[in-house]
Amino acid sequence: MEFHKIANIHNYEPLIGSEAVDRILSKAHRLNDLHIVHINSTFYGGGVSEILSSLTLLMNSLGIKTGWRVISGSPDFFAITKKMHNALQGSDYHFTRRKVQVFEEVIHENAIRMHLNHDMVVVHDPQPLPIVAHNRKRGPWIWRCHLQLHDPHPQLWEYLQNYIQMYDAVIMSLPEYRQKLNTPQVFFMPAIDPFSQKNRELSDPEIDERLSHYNIPVDLPILVQISRFDRWKDPEGVIQAFKIARKEMPCTLVLLGSMATDDPEGAQIYESLLKCQEERLLILSSQDSALVNALQRRAAVVLQKSLREGFGLTVAEAMLKGTPVIGGRVGGIPHQIDDNVNGFLVSSPEEAAARIVQLLKDDRLREEMGRKARDSVLKSFLLSRLVEQYLDLFSSFRS
Ligand code: UDP
Repeated sequence: MEFHKIANIHNYEPLIGSEAVDRILSKAHRLNDLHIVHINSTFYGGGVSEILSSLTLLMNSLGIKTGWRVISGSPDFFAITKKMHNALQGSDYHFTRRKVQVFEEVIHENAIRMHLNHDMVVVHDPQPLPIVAHNRKRGPWIWRCHLQLHDPHPQLWEYLQNYIQMYDAVIMSLPEYRQKLNTPQVFFMPAIDPFSQKNRELSDPEIDERLSHYNIPVDLPILVQISRFDRWKDPEGVIQAFKIARKEMPCTLVLLGSMATDDPEGAQIYESLLKCQEERLLILSSQDSALVNALQRRAAVVLQKSLREGFGLTVAEAMLKGTPVIGGRVGGIPHQIDDNVNGFLVSSPEEAAARIVQLLKDDRLREEMGRKARDSVLKSFLLSRLVEQYLDLFSSFRS
């Protein structure tokens, strides 16, 4: 009974209509003999775990047995995979035998423990990629890459391709991330769960309670960026923009980040940010979905000033809440923000500062952009759309 309260496609009826719900139900019905598993590298922290926690529940509620497994690894393994992650998004990379050995051994060990005998397997991002080599396939294996894959490091990409070509399909977030591959590629933009703790409606007293719990002052307009502590999220650029903007419009900046178990750089970046002492700058590290929700709702402006961003769930999360977002003009962000219409796109701290000031000065603009932002998320970025894309992909392997 309780389960159906957690995730149920019928909850989406007021948002997407009963016809769409019936269509999804009938597509799912044709696949209800399947046992599927998703594999990634962390249960919390970051967009992939966010999507999987809701997607796997919704799939189960549709009658498709869907599991979620997380690979385990030592800090040196995750240090190596974080370097790979960075190199796939354009950083330099020093390719060594040691890195390859650790990477392959840890995944082989995980494969031994996992006993994967599912009808379909979906592997997320590069960390667990080689696991395909250690299993006898009982059905299609799909590699889902969430990164901004404009310019992957050539030598690393060539190496990873040995594994990618063992998969039956590759999913990327955008057509512009397409690579030269023999494996068929499809493109699914990520999506958010409007009923999760992070996105559900909150009352004003609930918002007040979360903000006061963390001693976040509410006397001035609040600017917020919520991101793992990662240099691609450009927290320094956000602080710089805040310093410029507050000279003209007094405000408070909250940088909220959580640590993910597969991201060993987070703690280091958090420590270095703490050295930036600035009045009305709060840097918080906490994994608290209700706080994320409260901040995205109460903020006058949300920033996501990334330098690389495969998609950027935090953009859609804030837009759903009717809060205008200033986002970096990179990766998946321009696919969510229509510049000057439902938010702003920027390429520098100075540009971000100018947009912050413009929005803080103009209540009507904030309200109008926020309304359009919410409408666009309801139209394009709900989890029900992503679930249907997965169902269509799974069906395509049967015909
Ligand atoms: N997030 C969170 N708490 C934090 C920072 C991030 O819950 O302190 C969540 C955020 O709300 C979003 C996800 O982590 O759901 C980040 O996804 P996104 O696609 O924005 O970035 P990624 O971390 O995957 O690069």
